[in-house]
Amino acid sequence: MNPILQVNQLKTSFFTSSGEVEAVRGVSFELQSGEILGIVGESGCGKSVTVKSIMNIIKPPGRVVAGEIKYKDEDLLNLSKHRIREIKGNDIAMIFQDPMTSLNPVLTIGSQLMETMKAHTKLSKSEREQRAIALLRAVQINSPELRLKQYPHEFSGGMRQRVVIAIALANDPDILIADEPTTALDVTIQDQILKLLKDLQKKQSKSVILITHDLGVVAQMCQRVLVMYGGLIVESGTREDIFYAPKHPYTVGLLNAMPKLDSKARLEAIPGSPPALVNPPKGCPFASRCQQAMKICLNHLPHFYEDHEGHKARCWLLDPQVKKMKGYEDQ
Ligand code: SF4
Ligand code: MG
Repeated sequence: MNPILQVNQLKTSFFTSSGEVEAVRGVSFELQSGEILGIVGESGCGKSVTVKSIMNIIKPPGRVVAGEIKYKDEDLLNLSKHRIREIKGNDIAMIFQDPMTSLNPVLTIGSQLMETMKAHTKLSKSEREQRAIALLRAVQINSPELRLKQYPHEFSGGMRQRVVIAIALANDPDILIADEPTTALDVTIQDQILKLLKDLQKKQSKSVILITHDLGVVAQMCQRVLVMYGGLIVESGTREDIFYAPKHPYTVGLLNAMPKLDSKARLEAIPGSPPALVNPPKGCPFASRCQQAMKICLNHLPHFYEDHEGHKARCWLLDPQVKKMKGYEDQ
């Protein structure tokens, strides 16, 4: 295994008038080179804040309060502004949910693509144009020479998201971070965009972090999965671990909420709602919604227990003593 990105004990908070909102409360994970890692959970669980912290785009009143984010050998939290801009332009690129907010309506697609290259490469104007054409072709946009001269409003929603992906690829980054890249699109288009992303990841050997609230998307796309809840990773494992042998009651709830035939799950189906993260609960953040909650869950944050190599869950049910007490076989 060869991690290209390592996040260690990341904590990000928002300092609001009602107090410190602990949006990310100590998150650690690795992104392996060439994999698609899914981060799944309801909105407000800390997924977007985690990747925005990686991209260094947390705005006040928010800030990263602790942790380490290592890209190759550099800690992204301790670099000069200049070096961070370089890395963000060349090595790590982000694809946002809504293409309309990431495209400039008054600039042509071509100038937006070439602008990204201009800021970070030494290509000549005609080389940039050639590369822009090649990028539009790579994201399967027909007649790229003509399309370069058009404005975002001349593209459909799905086409605009392809353009956003092309811009993210402009400087050939190692890592692509996609935050709900298909949420704003209808189902058929969503499927095409996901296929395109997977195809690019394979052909261009990118490492991808894919954020979604949709387990169907995870099943289709990801080799490994992090399940987030209440600003914490509550379970991590391979896709098979998560879908066939989930250990955390929250993950089980998400899976039960998935319609069997149609995979377009909305995750709100678990009764109750996630905890507020101003003064987050001392114990397990899921306790107020968990049917298996015990006394210990209310007052003590569970450890992250390893079920087997690579598969972990943050739940007291995996504690050897609790297992014994409950009469489980300790394997
Ligand atoms: Fe439920 Fe307790 Fe496990 Fe939390 S630690 S998920 S409350 S059993
Ligand atoms: Mg989000």
